[in-house]
Amino acid sequence: MESYHVKLDTRVRLDKLDPEDSGEHKKGKQLDAMLEKIRLEMDRLQELLYAERKHKVLIVLQAMDTAGKDGTISHVFEGMNPQGVKVASFKAPTTEELDHDFLWRVHKQVPGKGEIVIFNRSHYEDVLVVRVHNLITRDVWLRRYKEINNFEHMLANEGTTILKFFLHITPDEQKQRLQDRLDDPAKHWKFSAADLDERKLWPDYMKAYEDAITATNTAWAPWYIVPANKKWYRNLVVASTIMAALQTFDMHYPESTLDASKIVIE
Ligand code: ATP
Ligand code: MG
Repeated sequence: MESYHVKLDTRVRLDKLDPEDSGEHKKGKQLDAMLEKIRLEMDRLQELLYAERKHKVLIVLQAMDTAGKDGTISHVFEGMNPQGVKVASFKAPTTEELDHDFLWRVHKQVPGKGEIVIFNRSHYEDVLVVRVHNLITRDVWLRRYKEINNFEHMLANEGTTILKFFLHITPDEQKQRLQDRLDDPAKHWKFSAADLDERKLWPDYMKAYEDAITATNTAWAPWYIVPANKKWYRNLVVASTIMAALQTFDMHYPESTLDASKIVIE
């Protein structure tokens, strides 16, 4: 799984990474059992994290439409305690948000002690969609890379563990998934005609992603590029990466000063 971690100081080339990749793994009973084990371990770790109230975890999910941000969130965080896990979704900014700096709405949503926060889209939209649509000039997005790195560095210095995932699919896979949404009336609600316009800009988006990931892949806020054509493998990669990060924390339940033997419940 380490191989999906983008190496520091290397230029990302998305066309060299295969969204169909599923490593040594195959779908089936063995995989289901493995996923279940990971899920149980993650639930255990998250309860500990919540109880200890020491660590803060920020997960950033970025991807093209239909690449599976929502699916990843529902599968990977399924069994966790909703009290300690929050999802923050970033849509096109409101007028009030636009009246402020681009990090204003983002900073309000970062995790506190004991929390895991998942960003469904994020401050990266402010160097992606706005760049692709020419809403900002080159010097602004270049400047924002530095501002993002500084912001994330500050969060890390204040005790936040940051993991950033790009869910990587092919345009063909997107076509198939959009078609599935059209073919199934129960999925019509997920279909957005705007996705077709963004789809036409695919090469521009890939360029913007490559530049953004390259410029903001830091020791304190690493990027992972996840092969995401196969949903089960995408879930496996994201879940194991987060689990491995949580396992590096030396977590303990808060020390109890309670002498339970002296307490009688009438
Ligand atoms: P889904 O389609 O799965 O519900 P989504 O994240 O695509 O999820 P939408 O409401 O379809 O949600 O789209 C949100 C849109 O908001 C995206 O096209 C995204 O690029 C845009 N957006 C997010 N942040 C910004 C931003 N800072 N500036 C401009 N547009 C943004
Ligand atoms: Mg959408």
